[in-house]
Amino acid sequence: MTIVNNEQLEHLRTYEKRFWRNVDKDDEDECWDWNMSLDIGGYGIMTFRRPWEGGKTSSMKAHRYSWLIHNGLIPEGILVLHTCDNPACCNPNHLFLGTTQDNIDDKVRKGNARGNSIPRTPEQRKAIGDKARGRPRTEESKAKQKATIARLQKEGLY
Ligand SMILES: [Zn+2]
Repeated sequence: MTIVNNEQLEHLRTYEKRFWRNVDKDDEDECWDWNMSLDIGGYGIMTFRRPWEGGKTSSMKAHRYSWLIHNGLIPEGILVLHTCDNPACCNPNHLFLGTTQDNIDDKVRKGNARGNSIPRTPEQRKAIGDKARGRPRTEESKAKQKATIARLQKEGLY
């Protein structure tokens, strides 16, 4: 659902505590995974009540919620996209706004024609995220990533 004005945004902010409880907050350049329910596309689901519609329960994607509380309103028809390609990620540093076409272009650019396949473990998602961002920067995280990829290759998952 779309949040269209600041009054609605202020109401959403009352759910911030719950949001952070459901996010595995990590270093600022790591993925912050949603640890509660995911939708079929692998996106985190945030539920809340809409007092402006008689308190009806509603839901929105968790990464969109993250964008709202960090950056403010999202223009109508605009998507919140991931630089890391990890739908469950709520790290505001990994989010950017775009159109449906931007989303397609972004996937093509990253050679991401995975369709609906969702990386299965946090390590896999992290490895994919690191690859997409052209990371890592430190020797330590480089070694960690190498080890992760080697392990996934051994398991035939990478
Ligand atoms: Zn991420």
